[in-house]
Amino acid sequence: MAYRTLRGWLRRLAETDRLVVATAGADLDFEVAAVAKRQDGSKAVLFPGPKRGDANGPDVPVIANLLADRSWVAEALGVEPDGVLDCFRSAVDHPIPWEEVADAPVQQSVIREPDLLRDLPIPLHNEHDSGPYISAGLIIARNPRTGVQNVSINRLQISGPDRMGILILPRHLHAFYQAAEEAGDALEVAIAIGVDPATLLASQAIVPIDFDELEVAGALHGKPLRVVKCVTNNVRVPADAEVVIEGRLLPNVREMEGPFAEFPQYYGPAGRREVIQVDAITTRKAPMFHTIVSAGMEHLLLGAIPREATIVALLQRSFPSVMDVHLSLGGICRYHLYVRMKKRYEGEPKNIIAGAFSAHADIKQVIVVDEDVDVHDATKVEWAVATRFQAGKDLVLLHGGLGSRLDPSSDDGISDKMGLDATMPVKRDGLDYVVVHVPGEDDPATDRWIAGPASPDLAHLQED
Ligand code: MN
Repeated sequence: MAYRTLRGWLRRLAETDRLVVATAGADLDFEVAAVAKRQDGSKAVLFPGPKRGDANGPDVPVIANLLADRSWVAEALGVEPDGVLDCFRSAVDHPIPWEEVADAPVQQSVIREPDLLRDLPIPLHNEHDSGPYISAGLIIARNPRTGVQNVSINRLQISGPDRMGILILPRHLHAFYQAAEEAGDALEVAIAIGVDPATLLASQAIVPIDFDELEVAGALHGKPLRVVKCVTNNVRVPADAEVVIEGRLLPNVREMEGPFAEFPQYYGPAGRREVIQVDAITTRKAPMFHTIVSAGMEHLLLGAIPREATIVALLQRSFPSVMDVHLSLGGICRYHLYVRMKKRYEGEPKNIIAGAFSAHADIKQVIVVDEDVDVHDATKVEWAVATRFQAGKDLVLLHGGLGSRLDPSSDDGISDKMGLDATMPVKRDGLDYVVVHVPGEDDPATDRWIAGPASPDLAHLQED
């Protein structure tokens, strides 16, 4: 069963020696992010009493690196590592509506005259970031036309005591905001910080507009997510979150936001962007503040797993031969897709490549391999390219497609795409493509022939 609260997950990490505690008083300017980044991929970190310079910070610890590895994601969802995509897919196919409660831990304390940097420990992460950023906030808004909610994670710049700049990509939140702005209205929003890993992942589900991602969180939990109505607006937020910032996206206001470091390990540029007016902050009695370090494992995995689940479902609809997909770490879990297939016909891998290009705009390179290649092992995939691919006939090149704007080599998002068919021919003769194998090499019983460590005194090792 999935962990339903952040604290439950942190207790699990502590019980299994995967949560370390920092010395109290780490500086919110760079120090917190630097310490977290050095532990990335191995430990979660809790920072008690973080401060900004010599000033006293709010007495709220920062928590980082909640998901350091794919196996942690599986564990947080309560499934085996090879069951993560199926689990996520089934949650998207069978969402569970949330349940509204009146009393919520996240409203134990209410701050009605908020000052973001006074009330919350908000880190300054990277060298050239424009200032402190909230990087792990789930922005929740309601469609002004239908009332259905949307959840997304957007970078939030602290622009003033009760003001934040936000980067909104042209997706669902943007559509809600446009509808409100056209009517001259502000859009009510809430930002939930410090939620359980399943809810974090659910926020990244690739689903249509008017599909509330919190219902995916419920499905991952196996029971309705408890939500509560905000104290200053009508947005419903996870009742068990650590912190909620309530506010409004102002109509017809744009202010400078950025730069801020993004998942490709480069900075997303500054620009004139939408602004949130903050009306209140609600928290648990003794809250924690979650931050995501840019381009760290947590950032990458939150993008990878919901995307893989959607991409594999889309591909399998047209190509039942597709067995597995993987967005590789070197491709920053967005741009490079590996596809494993049971090849039946010549040419089919190229159709799969075309299908993958249309499955998600971010995909820039696709490598299709046979069923004997583990797509989670980049070395194995490279071996397949080295031995089963000829550029003259196996390369698919697409010029000038729509790609990721955050790819600095693209022309403002216009990107070439490349597909490599690294599969074997269907018809093979004799020993063509037969992978070498020593009878007995896979049998652990073979190790009975190992007698033990060699002593340097062994007669064979002495000079004559
Ligand atoms: Mn959505």
